[in-house]
Amino acid sequence: MSDSEIYDLVIVGGGPGGLSAGIYAQRAALKTLLIEKGAAGGQIILSDLVENWPGTESISGAELAQNFLKHAESYGLQVLYEEVQQIEPGLEYHTIRLTNGTTYRTHAVILGTGGSPRKMSIPGEDELYGKGVSYCAVCDGFFFRNKTVVVIGGGDTATEEALYLAKLAQKVYLVHRRDALRAGMILQQRVKAECKIEILWNTIVTAIKADAAGVNEVALKNTQSGAERDLSTDGVFIFIGFEPNNQLVPAGTNMNADGYVITDDKCETNTPGIYVIGDLRQKYAKQIVIAAGEGATAALAAAHYVETKKNGGEVCEAPASLFETGRN
Ligand code: NAP
Repeated sequence: MSDSEIYDLVIVGGGPGGLSAGIYAQRAALKTLLIEKGAAGGQIILSDLVENWPGTESISGAELAQNFLKHAESYGLQVLYEEVQQIEPGLEYHTIRLTNGTTYRTHAVILGTGGSPRKMSIPGEDELYGKGVSYCAVCDGFFFRNKTVVVIGGGDTATEEALYLAKLAQKVYLVHRRDALRAGMILQQRVKAECKIEILWNTIVTAIKADAAGVNEVALKNTQSGAERDLSTDGVFIFIGFEPNNQLVPAGTNMNADGYVITDDKCETNTPGIYVIGDLRQKYAKQIVIAAGEGATAALAAAHYVETKKNGGEVCEAPASLFETGRN
């Protein structure tokens, strides 16, 4: 293996956290590679509008993702669109193996692979995926213009997506299992004020049914009374949270019972030089701004770690000083 394949830092995952880490790592002059298996931007690409990124009142998720990528690339960040198969911790170097057989060695790793939509695991969900069942309103909402849709969930995602769908559909049923939404207050107020949205409280969807054309009905059950009924619908959008994408987390890494990685305040795992950021990391709230902050934190910590390692344990200067200067 040639020296050119040895990096100071490999970032796995090109969401807001990974790209922010890339910006900070480049500014710290770390030899950095970011590997992303899909499109840069991660989950935010699927967001119709982002209204809580400081300094920008409203922007589409896709545009914000492009801005992050352009910003990181303006510092010369090397972005590779490939799939990582395995991360092997090592004493001298950590090893990153790609599914295409390529291997990279690196002093530090920042893992920011996020999460994927949680499934309901009810009859019809898997069979009717793409035939009326969806996990992305921005991707599939277009097919439900002037139609009726059911949105399942009561969090920020379900309410945001219900509001998006209300712009297209004739009627949106928001089905929530409790009598209070989990979403933030502004979203709650907007959903309640939108006349096309009807909230079905204390209700769960127990099955999704179809005819030859695709989804045509859901079976509902009231969680208080136990009463059951069917509701006609053309589509079902499921937003009930998500599962952490922890498949690449090395064995022996501390995780909580839900599969989120436990780190210290530098975002470092119990393996020195391996950091976890964004929605894969255990924390109070998942937000774009928080993932970006964690990317910055992990890159600063990784810069310190790499410098210390290269200097045989001696750090000449606190690396944080590198980041407060202008672009050069
Ligand atoms: P979430 O906050 O975990 O909400 C999931 C919702 O689905 C909850 O209302 C939950 O009900 C319901 N639910 C869970 N399992 C269910 C099941 N089996 N059957 C029926 N309902 C079920 O997930 P999220 O809305 O995807 O948000 C995830 C994180 O991303 C949150 O931290 C959120 O704040 C953040 N987020 C932020 C933004 C933003 O900043 N603009 C946008 C989207 C998401 P209960 O309420 O009864 O538990």
